[in-house]
Amino acid sequence: MRRKMAAGNWKMNGTQADLNVLDDLNATHGSSPCDIVICPPAPLLILAVARSAKGVVAIGAQDCHPEPKGAFTGDISAGMIVDTGAGHVIVGHSERREAYGDTDAQVRAKGEAAQGAGLIAIVCIGESLAQREAGDALPVLKAQLAGSVPEASTGANLVVAYEPIWAIGTGKIPTLEQIGEVHGVLRAELVARFGDEGDAIRLLYGGSVKPGNAADIFATPEVDGALVGGASLKAEDFSPIIEAL
Ligand code: 13P
Repeated sequence: MRRKMAAGNWKMNGTQADLNVLDDLNATHGSSPCDIVICPPAPLLILAVARSAKGVVAIGAQDCHPEPKGAFTGDISAGMIVDTGAGHVIVGHSERREAYGDTDAQVRAKGEAAQGAGLIAIVCIGESLAQREAGDALPVLKAQLAGSVPEASTGANLVVAYEPIWAIGTGKIPTLEQIGEVHGVLRAELVARFGDEGDAIRLLYGGSVKPGNAADIFATPEVDGALVGGASLKAEDFSPIIEAL
């Protein structure tokens, strides 16, 4: 039985004052039966971990470099994320793939670094609108999954997030049938590659998840939770999504 997960990706949003969201979430979801993760910008990680120390909200970073240290101005390593006390890191988000040219191989290397340091890697994949409209979504996603997921992945150190690029921040989501189809294919691919362990890896949906559509998305087969952007910035939006799990 896979434990459900609600993960919030704050992207480049939030300052110290916004960490009040963590207090609200910790107070509201004290005995939550699902994993709750907030991924704030890197400068807030240490403060966020301290703020959540006695609560239920786990803290994650939004990216890491594959190397442990060195001359990589502006980057942070998986070990540095561990050093903050955070336990998760998102890798391969489409915004990094598009704006920084992260390839599947680089995402996989980042994921390996994350897992090697003891973090849970949240590996993101997703098709563009052009790929969806050309009928190529499934082959594109299979290739991204195969190329981006580290070989040593288990249910304990990997979460996969399916985020169709055209659904991110747009208010548009795929049909529930399309979400179910993709998640079913991803599950089959993971089981084919990792056996029983592939059945333990959680599959999140991401892209315009809101309080109003969360319950339907979570009722879709093989959906183990969500990676939420905009609606994770306020407890009043994120809490109902957590409750829908
Ligand atoms: P939105 O929920 O704002 O569409 O963002 C999704 C996302 O990119 C999460 O990583």
